[in-house]
Amino acid sequence: MSAYSEPSFRESVDLMFNRAVSLMDLAPGLEEKIRVCNATYTVRFGVRLRGQIHTFTGYRSVHSEHMEPVKGGIRYSPEVNQNEVEALAALMTYKCALVEAPFGGSKGGLCIDPRAWDEHELELITRRFAYELIKRDLINPSQNVPAPDMGTGEREMAWIADQYARMNTTDINSRACVTGKPLNAGGIAGRVEATGRGVQYALQEFFRDADGVKKSGLKGTLDGKRVIVQGLGNVGYHAAKFLSEEDGCKIIGIIERDGALVDESGLDVEAVKAWIAENGGVAGYPDAEHTISGNAVLENECDILIPAALEGVIHMGNAADIQAPLIIEAANGPVTAGADEILRKKGAVIIPDMYANAGGVTVSYFEWVKNLSHIRFGRMQRRQEEARHQLVVDELENLSQAVGNTWTLSPDFKQRYLRGADELELVRSGLDDTMRTAYQSMKEVWHSRNDVSDLRTAAYLVSIGKVAASYRAKGL
Ligand code: NAD
Repeated sequence: MSAYSEPSFRESVDLMFNRAVSLMDLAPGLEEKIRVCNATYTVRFGVRLRGQIHTFTGYRSVHSEHMEPVKGGIRYSPEVNQNEVEALAALMTYKCALVEAPFGGSKGGLCIDPRAWDEHELELITRRFAYELIKRDLINPSQNVPAPDMGTGEREMAWIADQYARMNTTDINSRACVTGKPLNAGGIAGRVEATGRGVQYALQEFFRDADGVKKSGLKGTLDGKRVIVQGLGNVGYHAAKFLSEEDGCKIIGIIERDGALVDESGLDVEAVKAWIAENGGVAGYPDAEHTISGNAVLENECDILIPAALEGVIHMGNAADIQAPLIIEAANGPVTAGADEILRKKGAVIIPDMYANAGGVTVSYFEWVKNLSHIRFGRMQRRQEEARHQLVVDELENLSQAVGNTWTLSPDFKQRYLRGADELELVRSGLDDTMRTAYQSMKEVWHSRNDVSDLRTAAYLVSIGKVAASYRAKGL
């Protein structure tokens, strides 16, 4: 516990879970079975680098195996610890249930600062970590399927997939052992953007819910909303990019490790991203005001706050000063249980992590299915779909001629209508549908039950209900 009696990340998840189950009527003992983490494996392994052996500590935690494989990212960060990995694994269980991805929850982590090692060194470390997990079936297409998380991406997933294939030379499904791979190594179009894209779809769906928008005190649509983002990594960058480019949002603040950029007229997300890639941080960016105390910007006035970096950034020490009426948890666990209570009392609406960042696991699910079916989505249907659309267009044009060409189809309509959907479009459509459906299930509970005042409790009620149903179906 910290100076503010702040619960740990694991305790925060448990507190939120307990709040929800107190409103449910679960069979005796089932609540405990669902809450606890089934197992956490800790591994310490050595890699010879720079003339000496370096010892690394890694974890893979399995929270619930009510469905298998279990699923969850692998995080690279010096702060990784068992408590964090277990909290993240628990969130994965609830997240997968909420968006109906047929997996149990898992998570992994390696205590490492990836920026301290070069690419070749990171490959050696990753392959060794993967080896340790693979030989215990903690990476396996039918048992445990990791994905990227903070500090890891396509590159690490490709190394893991290759390591698994080398150790399982006759496994025809080896590519399904991990998701978030590059396209040329069995990945799927749209996975890199998926979590940020999911944040965008979640906000679009929220703004279709007039009662929800009213509860937040906001008005209108996403257009013109002023947004502050913390963390311009995979999730934060894509969310900020799509919201500003496609929905008319203004990104008025970007918080990074080395401070924040603020500009009321709206920041150029691409330009800031390019600056970070070149300079390692936001400091010195020429076209906005830079402040060194980045976290203070979380408290700036805005319409939507998107914490997309790490957990516990909104805590009992700053929650009362957060002005955003709407917070969407793009990161996992950015709001502690204590802060959640303070914000709820203030009337802020929080779109919870288990829903908000579920785009990643949703598209990972599509990738896993693609790997198991050994065929790209759309490959069988696309041209056939185009041919059928062509028939309709030809017929309409014939009819138009028959009545003396009194009307025509616009070239833009024809072009858009005739084109069959490729994999990226199908993935986005499946993701959009998933985010809409999951929001509807939470919304129904949120708006219909007097004892449920927030979306997080609603999300827990829906997901715990689904996990409990799986256990009941297994006869537990
Ligand atoms: P990432 O490593 O790509 O990006 C994290 C960003 O946060 C980086 O730009 C980093 O510089 C910044 N950052 C780190 N510490 C910071 C600090 N103290 N203050 C401000 N900025 C800081 O990671 P990511 O994959 O975008 O993951 C971010 C969050 O989203 C994590 O909580 C992760 O668990 C969650 N998440 C990620 C995915 C995914 O598909 N990548 C899926 C679901 C949830």
